Amino acid sequence: MTRHPSEECLLAVAEGGGREADRAHVAACAECGSRVEEARASLSREAAGIAAELAIELLEKELTDADRERIFTSTLERLKARAAGGVQ
Ligand SMILES: [Zn+2]
Repeated sequence: MTRHPSEECLLAVAEGGGREADRAHVAACAECGSRVEEARASLSREAAGIAAELAIELLEKELTDADRERIFTSTLERLKARAAGGVQ
């Protein structure tokens, strides 16, 4: 039986790279396959978090006072609409 690739190699495969032999092993090995899947899931969660942070940073830089006012007003309206249409 061939040895499982190292954690580092599995991570490389999860990121879409890695060596041919490691990718073939991951495809054939259930244990490594699920580890790569887990790594992918946590990578995409991390990426989503970073994307959200960047979006907020960008927004904060680009927003004018008028934008903030508009967002505040429409948020308030949405909250009021939700409260009015919500569960009694
Ligand atoms: Zn394996």
